[in-house]
Amino acid sequence: MTDKTSQKIIYVDNNATTAIAPEVRDAMMPYFSEKYANPSSMHTFGGRLARDIDAAREKVAILLGANSSEIVFTSCGTESDNAAIFGTLPSYPEKKHLITTRIEHPAVLTVGEYLQRRGYEVTFLGVDSKGRLDPDELRRSIRKDTAIVSIMWANNEIGNIYPIEELGQIVKDGDSVFHVDAVQAVGKIPINLHKSSIDLLSLSGHKIHTPKGIGVLYIKRGTRFRPYIMGGHQERGRRAGTENIPYIAGLGVACELAMKYMDEENTRVKSMRDHLEKRILSEIPSASLNGDPEHRLPNTSNISFEFIEGEAILLMLDRAGICASSGSACTSGSLEPSHVLRAMGVQFTKAHGSIRFSMSRYNQMDEMDYIVEHLKPIVARLREMSPGVESILK
Ligand code: PLP
Repeated sequence: MTDKTSQKIIYVDNNATTAIAPEVRDAMMPYFSEKYANPSSMHTFGGRLARDIDAAREKVAILLGANSSEIVFTSCGTESDNAAIFGTLPSYPEKKHLITTRIEHPAVLTVGEYLQRRGYEVTFLGVDSKGRLDPDELRRSIRKDTAIVSIMWANNEIGNIYPIEELGQIVKDGDSVFHVDAVQAVGKIPINLHKSSIDLLSLSGHKIHTPKGIGVLYIKRGTRFRPYIMGGHQERGRRAGTENIPYIAGLGVACELAMKYMDEENTRVKSMRDHLEKRILSEIPSASLNGDPEHRLPNTSNISFEFIEGEAILLMLDRAGICASSGSACTSGSLEPSHVLRAMGVQFTKAHGSIRFSMSRYNQMDEMDYIVEHLKPIVARLREMSPGVESILK
């Protein structure tokens, strides 16, 4: 890919967002011109669009192994996560306890912290040094008054995949509602909700090649749910607001493509990831992998380069047209290492120098070599610039 200045762009930040698939874009276009009616209208013109929504809903349901009546369109993964939690609590007014983990996306984490301030008791499950959860800790934490347990299927920063079915069984034994943030898992690992203990599940379109602005909340039939956004009767009264048809249609196609390319994610994309990772770890000194090497998304690699700032690496990669992410968040002028790496107890000198590479089916193998060839001198140069580092590394 090239940008407007015709600089080569190597995009390896797909856990942040993905390129819009041309098939998705094409499917959306008619809704920006001739197909503009309101699907709730009585006329035939509107009715046709209602059928288009049903067709897209069916495609999402097929990808998730769900019934189409269980699919609710939202605006994004964050809304789905918020709706799952805020939509559950009013149905269990006597239950004042929630469980989640320290490594959730802020879309869940900040809701947990907010509820804590509002008088709820919230248990944040910890992780080990590889970012793994301990199912026994969940078993010990669940109580009679646990309203909902919210655990992500796969982590956006380190790519760890969690044993959702095992955890779900524990939640069911404890008679709680189980919400799973599957924003990073969808399209990368097979999901079959027909045979699962998951009650609520979040998906985000822009992680699977739609534009930003569309998400899904799966609500298993029979799950108690109070709408989080109220108004009209759209989405069977579970999420009000005139439907965002272009994006819904685009998401339908994105889900079909996700099914089609799932194998490729786990073969070609994975082999690019493995090649990049292997070269970096063997050719760059004091580089180490963050996360669980065994149970990990096929597209994600989070690597720490000890003694240097991730932001500095990113800026220099950017100059070479390489788009990646760091595991630090710049808040109020101070660079805080990611909450995920902190929860794992990753050493300060490593946590600050972490970079996440996340690939997609639009990457090519030669791009991985291009990244390594640029990364090697960047890391060497930054270490030369940090006094004392060279002698520590010797
Ligand atoms: N959950 C996870 C695991 C994510 O990675 C993200 C986005 O990065 C979200 C939720 C939020 O999704 P959205 O950007 O669609 O609001």
